[in-house]
Amino acid sequence: MKKKKKYSQWKFIMVFVAVMAMFVGVKKVMGIEVKMETKAKKMEVMKEKTEERENRLTPTARKMEAMKERKEEKERRENHLMPTAKRENGGVHRVRGVWSYSECFPDSQSVQIVAAEENGITPVRNREEAEVLVKQHQLVNICHSPFYSVDRLTHSIPYLVPKAQHLLNTICLNFMDSCQVKGLPIHMLIVTSVLRTTEDVSNLQRGNKNATTNSCHCYGTTVDIAYNKFMPMTGTYESKAALLRWNEPMKQVLSEVLNDLRMEGQCYVKYERKQGCFHLTCR
Ligand SMILES: [Zn+2]
Repeated sequence: MKKKKKYSQWKFIMVFVAVMAMFVGVKKVMGIEVKMETKAKKMEVMKEKTEERENRLTPTARKMEAMKERKEEKERRENHLMPTAKRENGGVHRVRGVWSYSECFPDSQSVQIVAAEENGITPVRNREEAEVLVKQHQLVNICHSPFYSVDRLTHSIPYLVPKAQHLLNTICLNFMDSCQVKGLPIHMLIVTSVLRTTEDVSNLQRGNKNATTNSCHCYGTTVDIAYNKFMPMTGTYESKAALLRWNEPMKQVLSEVLNDLRMEGQCYVKYERKQGCFHLTCR
């Protein structure tokens, strides 16, 4: 008796669970059907609403809307086709600079003098001797250039060997180009020191005992370019233009230009902390 009763109870539970499972299963299937039905219904409603809106629009408004859509699509496509570099910062290249001025431009006198002796002239004693070399086309006057400005020179004269002049032009053109590409106002670089005669060097040594006798500046291969002042390009002649001083983005752009050329093996560069310039020699 006991055994039979227990068995029927167990059987009842099993049947109950099976019925419940079937019920849940059927409910789930129904649920999916209901969901699909609502989704389809929603789509239909949306379609109806769009049609209604389009019917409400006047022909001109419809045309305008189509034009707007086409324009947006064109913009999306152009933006996608553009190289990544051009897209960053709203279509403008970023100013990156170098990670360290003194570490990236370490070329000391001992390194630069080798290139100076190799590419340069035999040092001249005075201006008259320099003029002779200009007539022989060994030196060129760099005073008048649309690419840079020459500072008032106190211990040097504006002559370089053609190779160094070419390097200077490249630096200054690349700098102006970079300014434009990076969305900065275009400025000219300022040359602060060029060729020194042996007389200039002895005059310098009188004032500064640390000035070296065998300066790279004596070979016409070396220039100093200021990083603490820049000449704005206004498009009009001004006898005393207000210079842009101590501008970090400009200094960074100049350092990028010099770093590129140095890495290409076109020049040696030394970051002069005290003089506020880059001292560089063509290679
Ligand atoms: Zn120098």
